[in-house]
Amino acid sequence: MSSTFKAILISRDENKKQSVTTTELSDSDLMEGDVTVAVEATTVNYKDGLAITGKAPVVRHWPMVPGIDFAGTVTASTHPDWKEGDKVVLNGWGVGETHWGAYAGKARVKGDWLVPLPAGMTPLQAMAIGTAGYTAMLCVMALERYGIRPEDGPVVVTGAAGGVGTVAISVLAKLGFTVVASTGRPDEAGFLKDLGASEIIDRAEFSEPGRPLGKERFAAGIDVAGSHTLANVLSQISYGGAVAACGLAQGMDLPSTVAPFILRGVALLGVDSVMAPKARRMAAWQRLSQDLDMAKLEQLSRTIGFDGIIDAATAIVDGKIRGRVAVDMT
Ligand code: NDP
Repeated sequence: MSSTFKAILISRDENKKQSVTTTELSDSDLMEGDVTVAVEATTVNYKDGLAITGKAPVVRHWPMVPGIDFAGTVTASTHPDWKEGDKVVLNGWGVGETHWGAYAGKARVKGDWLVPLPAGMTPLQAMAIGTAGYTAMLCVMALERYGIRPEDGPVVVTGAAGGVGTVAISVLAKLGFTVVASTGRPDEAGFLKDLGASEIIDRAEFSEPGRPLGKERFAAGIDVAGSHTLANVLSQISYGGAVAACGLAQGMDLPSTVAPFILRGVALLGVDSVMAPKARRMAAWQRLSQDLDMAKLEQLSRTIGFDGIIDAATAIVDGKIRGRVAVDMT
């Protein structure tokens, strides 16, 4: 007898009008894959918000179970690396975009996409981190690989009160960096300082067209906004510094000049979490279990149930979510 489980399904009619429903699925409905996972926790990322609201063409296979990341327990596997009972984490690989994703009681995926849940971390903690937090760690690692050190000077983090921003601040502060948090929510200044930011600046400083080169204020940056924000951050990086860019919360464009690159040797480091190779993913999760204070994680995240996913998806694209939202699927 096969049991059913709850799922969110995004469908599209013949006029390409999108609708989102909650439904019941069974194992036999799931897409192909060599590992089936009981989803114990997931999260609402910015991309999930775009998929559910239809504000950007994230979904590319119809109908789609959205949800780009999950943590859970393997219930069946023909993949050599995984057996029933293993605790796993998945981020990206087109899950929730082209392959049915996390907003269901079970997911069937390729075993190659999974990484082990770090020892000592619960599925809910892993999803309080989620793709946003894992991407924040990839950004920190990109700056480290480039050679940025705490003694080089302050690091600016844009979108500071969001998911990537809050985890980036927490990790950078723990590693000894001086962190400048750029936010459009000045009322969150106390919260951002508790996470480890030394200084709070208004994101309006970055959001309008600026000069090709400004005062050298920061040794490095982590940017989630793109557009004028990234252009202005680049123009204020000190000689030889770098910016890790991972997002487009302000826009996809980059209205910059080559001045920061050719006159100050500034580097722009692109960060992608979706297709990141497995070794780098495992390193990022390992680093998160070591360099992210779990008390800070609790401070920056809250937990909702399956029934709260759709509302949270709308809120995140409206910029109304503070930090991270984890979803308890048990
Ligand atoms: P959140 O919605 O949690 O945070 C985004 C933050 O950006 C907001 O909280 C806000 O911060 C700031 N922001 C919103 N609108 C603007 C604007 N117009 N100008 C400047 N800042 C703005 O999203 P996440 O942190 O989860 O994701 C951030 C970005 O990173 C998204 O674009 C997402 O798609 C991208 N991303 C990319 C990944 C990759 O693999 N490259 C992986 C994960 C995320 P505040 O209120 O503090 O101003």
